[in-house]
Amino acid sequence: MSAFLQNTFILLTTLSALLLPIAPAAHADPFPEDNAGEAAGEHERIYGEGEQKLPEDLYLLYRIVDRIARANNLDNEPWRVAIDNERVLNAYASEANLLTIYFGYLDQFAGNVSALACVVAHEMAHHTEQHVSRSDVFISEWAEKYGLGSSKFHRRAEELWRTYEAEADIIGYEYAVTAGFDPEGCIRTTEVIARLPGGLQETTHPSATQRRDAYEVLMAEQPAEQLRALGQANLADSLPLTYDMLWDYNWLRINPAQGGDNVDDWNRLFPDTPIQPTVETSE
Ligand SMILES: [Zn+2]
Repeated sequence: MSAFLQNTFILLTTLSALLLPIAPAAHADPFPEDNAGEAAGEHERIYGEGEQKLPEDLYLLYRIVDRIARANNLDNEPWRVAIDNERVLNAYASEANLLTIYFGYLDQFAGNVSALACVVAHEMAHHTEQHVSRSDVFISEWAEKYGLGSSKFHRRAEELWRTYEAEADIIGYEYAVTAGFDPEGCIRTTEVIARLPGGLQETTHPSATQRRDAYEVLMAEQPAEQLRALGQANLADSLPLTYDMLWDYNWLRINPAQGGDNVDDWNRLFPDTPIQPTVETSE
């Protein structure tokens, strides 16, 4: 049951994956304005270290998630980013706050960081709206009621997922544009999806045409300038999120605003009985 669910959900979200524009190896900063102002030193330290230590694709995804999370007040919890090296165009949300982006998207969105950001924001929206856990509730209920293999079960499950996909498109659009990305990036994702097998059909996702139409309505109804102004204020009011590369799991954990260190947190809570941080040997 749960494996079925997971597979279906992955299938659903596959079509919604984003492509990442890959910055030149020289590492031109994708968001140079982040390095201005009072916090410039901190920006330079955290971002500079990331540029040197992280593989380029992961560094770009880190900058995208950092920016979306801070601009939208989603920076009070860790986000996790993994790259799947398969060449398919896909991305999905699973676990809690885990975003998996396939290489195919990074490759196909080369030169269009806003398209990649739209994909990332869509997957983040699946998490903030609890789509993974909420769909489980309905799927279990319908499997029992209609039978897992029944056409009624499949019809209802697909309807539910289409609803969630449309919701993630709307909220993801807001997240990405608030963070300063170009709304056209979302349109670009639908153009790519429209070329994929099944992309023009209504399945677990709305069709590429329906998704494009919905983005165009959003662009008209939610002017980018307003969203950006809000995001800009939140970005100016926060510092870059730190990260930890968990090589054993092959994912990047982007830490919440308060940092990702439990020893620090313990010592904040209990300064009279502190834990001494382990001295790290050179890496
Ligand atoms: Zn999705």
